[in-house]
Parts: sequence; C-alpha cells; structure tokens
Amino acid sequence: MPTPHPDYVFAPAPQPFLTIFGSEQLFPLRRVFCVGRNYAAHAREMGADPSREPPFFFCKPTDGVVPALRTGATVIAYPPQTNDLHHEVEMVVAIGKAGAAIESTQALNHVWGYGLGLDLTRRDIQAGLKAKGHPWEMGKAFDQCAPVSALTPVSTAGHPARGVLRLEVNGIVRQEGDLADMIWSVAETIAHLSRYVALAPGDLIFTGTPEGVGPIVRGDELRGSLAGLAPLHVRIA
Ligand code: MN
Repeated sequence: MPTPHPDYVFAPAPQPFLTIFGSEQLFPLRRVFCVGRNYAAHAREMGADPSREPPFFFCKPTDGVVPALRTGATVIAYPPQTNDLHHEVEMVVAIGKAGAAIESTQALNHVWGYGLGLDLTRRDIQAGLKAKGHPWEMGKAFDQCAPVSALTPVSTAGHPARGVLRLEVNGIVRQEGDLADMIWSVAETIAHLSRYVALAPGDLIFTGTPEGVGPIVRGDELRGSLAGLAPLHVRIA
C-alpha cells in the first residue's frame, strides 16, 4: 500500500476496485462511462428512436461501483429518493491500455477484460429530469449505483461479440438480448468515446442494456449471465 501524502487534511478515500474471476488480484478503477440506448428494442421501450445516431455517454461515480464478493450475493441498499428503482443489466468493458482517438480496428487491444454490471437507475428521478431537459445525474449517479461481477480477462473470455445477455429477478427472466444486437459494437464504442476523452487503465464502459428494464424492490435477488463471463449476483436490501 502506498503511504498517504502527509499533507492531505484527511486520509484519502479507499481506491475502488473490481475482483477478478479465478485470481486473487484486484482491478483498480478509474472512471465509469455508460452508453445510452445501445439496443434498439430498449431504445423503443424508453420512447426513443433507435436509428443509428452516434452513441451518447454518461458517467457514474467510481465509488458507486460495488465489486462482487468471492462468493454469495453483492448486497445493495435500496437507494433514497426513489420509488422506482430499475435494473439495467449490461456487459461491462474494462480498459487496460491508455489511448485517445483510438481507431475501431485497434480498439479491442485496449480491453483488459469483461464483466456484467447493473446500471441501477432511479427511473422516476430520471424521467422528471428528462422532462425538464436537466442532466440525468441524480437518476443515474448515486451511492451503490453500479454493482459489477468479477472481471474475466480477455485471455479467458476473448472478446464476446454475440451470446445471450440475461437478467433474472427472483428466478424469472426479465431481460434478454443478444450482444450481436448492440447498435454500437464494443470496438465502435471505444473508438467514439476515446474521441471525447483519453481512456486509461481502470476505466469501465457499461455497454447498454437490452429490453425488459423494470422495477426492483427490497428483497429481490438478481442474477445476470452471459456465456463465458463470471455471473452477476445481487440482492437488494
Ligand atoms: Mn444503461
């Protein structure tokens, strides 16, 4: 552990991290980017036109990421100021190599691994802000807003481009979509995002959610899956 700089007025916050499937090592986090509406059917269910307009991005706070434990469910407290907390299961890209204005043909070389995450959303707050033309921030960026599975490194997972991304709530399938139906591929997403910000190791990209988003309540048990990646298991307390 590095020694804190002696001039800090208080101890710096702990470094957020993700666990790694099959390893004791940890993946230190830097920033969290999310793609909006990357599956046509979800764009339609949110009242948007799923035409292939350039992807748009928003951020979640890095300390809102909750890493998967080695075993058992990740427990998330139901957040304040909402009566309509929604699940959005997403494949998460973990960046391992810095780059700006990355060509899509080179983009996958910047990926360290992949995980599954929930872009938890206070939908009632988001809808209210959207209606006023205000930033979504308080609908998307809050404490414990982003539980993420253990990461599976590219050396094991390869680069998943198809396969069923699924979310079950209390054993019932709520969301199901194929990665092949993403409007923007992982490589294209990295290429677009890196034109706006320089990506660096530790950055995460949530790649968008398939259709079927909906409310969750205290006591719900959520299980996300995609063949080849470590599963996601979250309980709402
Ligand atoms: Mn999302």
